[in-house]
Amino acid sequence: MLSIVKGGSAYGARLITDEPYRRGQIIYHISGHRVTSQPTYQTIQIGPNLHIEELGVLAYLNHSCQPNTVVNTTDLSVVAARDIAVGDELNFFYPSTEWEMDRPFICLCGAPQCVRLVAGAKYLAIDTLSRYFVNQHIRDMVFASLAQTVSLDTER
Ligand SMILES: [Zn+2]
Repeated sequence: MLSIVKGGSAYGARLITDEPYRRGQIIYHISGHRVTSQPTYQTIQIGPNLHIEELGVLAYLNHSCQPNTVVNTTDLSVVAARDIAVGDELNFFYPSTEWEMDRPFICLCGAPQCVRLVAGAKYLAIDTLSRYFVNQHIRDMVFASLAQTVSLDTER
């Protein structure tokens, strides 16, 4: 079971697990959501112009630069990225799903590799992104933006 705990974090509310998980185990299946073309601070991006909303408890899945879960937008699952203990807060790396976020923020996760400005994958170096699980639509958008840069360069 996942429970929402209010307060006690920089983000206001946190999503806590009362079960342990092994790395690779599926924690949650996203269902009952709606698809929208408009990103908000509560949506998760699943394609270049596709976002999902009404995500239930996942609305409280905070960002971390050292995340313990992965949101896989291909099968709409939340998977343990490492072993997770009872009482741990669940979090994921927002740029792994988001290209350009509706509400960028300064990260206070405290991880040594913290990216600081969390604004979406568009604003991160490929070197930084390469340290993380990143969903296919984000990889596609990185390559598309690179291709665009290259063609601009050659037109000069
Ligand atoms: Zn951080």
